Amino acid sequence: MTLEQAGRVERTRGTLATVLRLVHEGGAVSRSELTRATGLNRSTIASLVGDLVERGLATEADPVGVSRVGRPSPVVSASPDVVAWSVNPEIDAVTVGVVGLDGVVRRRVRRETEGVPTAAEAAGIAAAVIAELRAELGPRLVEVGVGAAVPGLVRADGGLVRLAPHLGWVDEPFAALLAEATGLLTEAANDASLAAVAEHRFGAGRGVDELVFLNGGASGVGGGVISAGRPLGGVGGYAGEIGHTLVNSVGRVCHCGATGCLETEVGQASLLAATGLDRGQADELDTALQEAPPGSAARREVERQVDQLAVALRTVVNAFDPSLVVLGGFLGSLLAAEPDRLLAGVTRQALPGPAEDVRLVRAALGADRLVIGAAELAFARLLDDPAAAPRR
Ligand SMILES: [Zn+2]
Repeated sequence: MTLEQAGRVERTRGTLATVLRLVHEGGAVSRSELTRATGLNRSTIASLVGDLVERGLATEADPVGVSRVGRPSPVVSASPDVVAWSVNPEIDAVTVGVVGLDGVVRRRVRRETEGVPTAAEAAGIAAAVIAELRAELGPRLVEVGVGAAVPGLVRADGGLVRLAPHLGWVDEPFAALLAEATGLLTEAANDASLAAVAEHRFGAGRGVDELVFLNGGASGVGGGVISAGRPLGGVGGYAGEIGHTLVNSVGRVCHCGATGCLETEVGQASLLAATGLDRGQADELDTALQEAPPGSAARREVERQVDQLAVALRTVVNAFDPSLVVLGGFLGSLLAAEPDRLLAGVTRQALPGPAEDVRLVRAALGADRLVIGAAELAFARLLDDPAAAPRR
């Protein structure tokens, strides 16, 4: 192959990936919109779309309900039958999801466990649920692989879980166990980092290339950073552990060994206790916090946690200069209960430059967030190089 030919192949590969990513993240898109978005000419787009269709990655259809003046532009969609599996081990359950290349969550199954699952048990449960869903969804499925969202530190290279404190997992080769149990290509990463990717591509952070995501769950605070449109991983893949940012130097000792981490100073359990709710009523926390009267124990606890969160966000804003901070779980509830106090606390304490344009918003994807984020991990290889998929 000449250098010129090689260059042409590389360019085609790049533009094919660009078009696939546009239909993957954007939903059904007309050919004329793809022409506009890419700056490529119509015949090039037609040929790239034809290529994706031949590989079974996209489908084309005539637009519905459009008046037929002139030639209608066909609508291109990513194939719902090309799927990725997601696996999320928790202390009391393993959740398995299956997501189409069109970004639609086709199924989500939460299988409860007797106790905290070991890594091998979680892999076995996931494989069993995947087999059930595979039988249910039928022979049209083309499976690209499995993405695992793990509540802990996961090494990017090889998916080794270094530490998942609430699961009690230390140096567990979870991706390898899942690959063995399912026979599929498997990757694993930190749950909040994957959630950040999901919110960036499909949720509250669409179109925003500098964002920080923070989630407050029953077992702590996780985080993920998107910088220049890409997930920030760090050397080992561990970046984004904002739950262990110092917010109170005379605070409590965290399970990580440090003192006064955000994760020890804010928490869902104390919000539930202050509002008189029990652990099973986390869904009602939002309303309870918003309705807590001024001066009540619940309102005072909200204000205390909002102030601690503002200290952590000061560091986040100064360190990453994001245009958007996306808050999920009970951190989203804190924002909804005291939006002005939180924003004022952040902008007052952060440096004037980075604090100027930062917005704080709630996460948008809800229960599907981890399923979508983990599936993105499994889709990554295909999205980067769709030309590697065989033609039908
Ligand atoms: Zn800590």
